[in-house]
Amino acid sequence: MKYALLNRGDQLSRDLTEQFQALAREKGLTRDDSEPDIVLSIGGDGTLLQAFHRFRDRVGQVAFVGVHTGHLGFYADWKKDELGELVELMAARKPNVVSYPLLKVEIVTDGGRSVYLALNEFTLKSVEGTLVAQVNINDEPFEMFRGDGIVVSTPTGSTGYNKSVNGAVIHPSLEALQIAEIASINNRVYRTLGSSAILPKHHHCDIVTDPDELLAIGIDHLVMQFKEVRSIICSVADEKVHFARYRPFPFWNRVREAFIGWEQDGQVVTKKRPR
Ligand code: NAD
Repeated sequence: MKYALLNRGDQLSRDLTEQFQALAREKGLTRDDSEPDIVLSIGGDGTLLQAFHRFRDRVGQVAFVGVHTGHLGFYADWKKDELGELVELMAARKPNVVSYPLLKVEIVTDGGRSVYLALNEFTLKSVEGTLVAQVNINDEPFEMFRGDGIVVSTPTGSTGYNKSVNGAVIHPSLEALQIAEIASINNRVYRTLGSSAILPKHHHCDIVTDPDELLAIGIDHLVMQFKEVRSIICSVADEKVHFARYRPFPFWNRVREAFIGWEQDGQVVTKKRPR
């Protein structure tokens, strides 16, 4: 079994990388940053997003594992003091692999077409002010959007930026994408749906903006500026992202632990339901 490793770059993540490598060597695991089976990220959710984009071209062939150095993450579930257990499991057996949907984003400009894959979401904003964009669903005009921006997320990304703009949390076994609004202007002149909309795999949405508008386009943690954009087509990608599970990490537990917790005598209890 070959593994690649990417860390956040801070001292703690670098120390944990050293520790992991020493343990892995003892167990006969080989580090291979070009053709790995498992990609380990040490840091936080942002580090796993970086690892995903680093291995974007091999996304179907690798499975990701996240170690967090701070609080429990959505993608990074192993704690820093559990590296020994993780290495033991990696050396002993094949993991369960869970596969989650990704978002395909095609940006058509006067200069050509670029295709991106997002693990969390795509965001669209105007660099110069209010975003004005026509949203089409399945090639039919749906709404004219005016406001701060649009977020189109994957099910695993639904707990990220999407949730902050009141989008729904979607279980990642559903192959879907979600369109959510960031501060839309709604009055007698301008009208949008005003809530998020969830599209199944066989649907797509096109976002059409004025080609003269300078756009800030986000793909997960990456932000790029684009001009002369003719349209942006979002759909559920054919590829999926794979996560190696050496122990269960149920989605709804993650949601509960990240956003709810349980309170008992003024303390948040996250391990088990208090009686
Ligand atoms: P980062 O690593 O600091 O991440 C920001 C926060 O988002 C962290 O607390 C991280 O744990 C959390 N996060 C990331 N993916 C998540 C997910 N799928 N579910 C729940 N929480 C998640 O910053 P970054 O490296 O720039 O990460 C980019 C991500 O941050 C984006 O993909 C976006 O989802 C999120 N983000 C959120 C907001 C917001 O909520 N207003 C704004 C910008 C970016």
